[in-house]
Amino acid sequence: MTEEPEKMTCQEFQSQLAELIGSGENVDGHPHLQTCARCRALLADLQTIAEAARQLLPIEPPEEDLWERIKSAIKEEEDSAPRS
Ligand SMILES: [Zn+2]
Repeated sequence: MTEEPEKMTCQEFQSQLAELIGSGENVDGHPHLQTCARCRALLADLQTIAEAARQLLPIEPPEEDLWERIKSAIKEEEDSAPRS
């Protein structure tokens, strides 16, 4: 890690890129991108891919809905079970 992000190498930047994107940070504002067109182009490519992936796989699955569906499925199961 360097203390001067604008002077980091492309390799250093790219090794952190996936983490930066995954953390939801504003990668566009990264100092290395202000000086490096190559990494800007790389980031644009990755964002296009990430955007496409997001449309296929929602980042935040509706867990509450899922739990509600599980509960109602269990309830239906109970309701339809013959009483003994
Ligand atoms: Zn670079």
